[in-house]
Amino acid sequence: MRPFVRGPILLILMNHSRTQLIAGNWKMNCSRSEAIQLASHVVATLKPVDAQLLICVPSIHLADISRLIANSRVLLGAQNAHWQEKGAYTGEISVNMLADYQVSYLLVGHSERRQMFADDNKKVALKFEAALKNGLTPILCIGETLEQRQQNLTLNVLQVQCEAVVKQVGIKAFANACVAYEPIWAIGTGQTATPEQAQQVHQALRAWFAEQDEEIATNLQILYGGSMNAGNAEELLAQPDIDGGLIGGASLKADAFLKIYSAAG
Ligand code: PEP
Repeated sequence: MRPFVRGPILLILMNHSRTQLIAGNWKMNCSRSEAIQLASHVVATLKPVDAQLLICVPSIHLADISRLIANSRVLLGAQNAHWQEKGAYTGEISVNMLADYQVSYLLVGHSERRQMFADDNKKVALKFEAALKNGLTPILCIGETLEQRQQNLTLNVLQVQCEAVVKQVGIKAFANACVAYEPIWAIGTGQTATPEQAQQVHQALRAWFAEQDEEIATNLQILYGGSMNAGNAEELLAQPDIDGGLIGGASLKADAFLKIYSAAG
């Protein structure tokens, strides 16, 4: 993976038409009534700007939230799904089941799933593929640990995580997908990557995609995730290769979440 911007990449930056995507990841938070209250508040106080707004809610709340956001600008996402269509997979939910609830995005490869639920690169690639087959946009989450960063392995780690998916679905499939760079050391820690640190990685990632397909790389939304909040969003989102945010903690407060959204517009 190339760490620096070179000539052709500068050209890409000049020609892109990427919209920013602000995606909330509620994780395993919110009772039913809290979820309804939070989503209602977002819908009611949303002041539209030129950016997309997405909430990835716990699956058990999808039916309620899907009804609630119908006819609004808010998009609905799920946090996980199985790649098989159906079968003896106790406790799992398939991607085509999600599609019945107007779910249009699916998080795949979140570090919490990689670390705690054994979602390895192969499973992540299968989930990514299943999302695409069912008309959902996968958001491929990738990121390095602090140790890996300290050992200068960040770009290698990200490359391996992306390569597994490219091998499964091909580079062109990324025309209908997003990537979220989420340094593990920044998730839920309050220790946000600096705008410069994040931009450097996003730029290198885009260059890596460009080596395979320039058009795909030019149009690919690469989100940043890791302690993004109402105070730091504007500076992060102003970076040329940061095309939005994946937001955990700050997405649980409608006002903070919408401030981030406004910063994207
Ligand atoms: C996340 O869960 O993807 C995340 C970025 O969380 P937080 O914003 O709380 O760091």
